[in-house]
Amino acid sequence: MAVQLKDKEAYQRMNYLYQAAHCVLSENPNNVELARFYCFTQRTIARRLVLRQDPSVKRTLCKKCSSLLIPGVTATTRQRRKKNKTRFTVMRCLSCGQSKSLLNNPDYCLWVDRPEAQLEQQKQPDQGSSTKNQPKDTEPDKSQSSKPSAAQSSAST
Ligand SMILES: [Zn+2]
Repeated sequence: MAVQLKDKEAYQRMNYLYQAAHCVLSENPNNVELARFYCFTQRTIARRLVLRQDPSVKRTLCKKCSSLLIPGVTATTRQRRKKNKTRFTVMRCLSCGQSKSLLNNPDYCLWVDRPEAQLEQQKQPDQGSSTKNQPKDTEPDKSQSSKPSAAQSSAST
């Protein structure tokens, strides 16, 4: 929890920049440079603080020129098929020509969604609850030691 709170402002800023890039392109599709600047700043924040961006965000950013990839506006989306029937969605950046291909597999599970990845996140609440339990165990002892008369009176009654 402490780690998430530490980078909360950075995530909020990245979120703002990502939405601002969308807003710029929706108002004026020709203003690609400003949207690219926003996304470049967003990527710089993520790199400096080593923050992982969600795959849904990461897939809409160009790897090479870090411009926002919107199909039909700043990128082209095509379906490609190889000889062994595997289908790909190929997104090509219209600014620099860099293309990224994503495998069409509805059964594909991202690493974030796998149960193995969830284990690391589950450890943190357990540690927090164990540390929370320790003060709870010590607190009654302190109150009893500081106020022996009150504890004795409550125990007798
Ligand atoms: Zn590009």
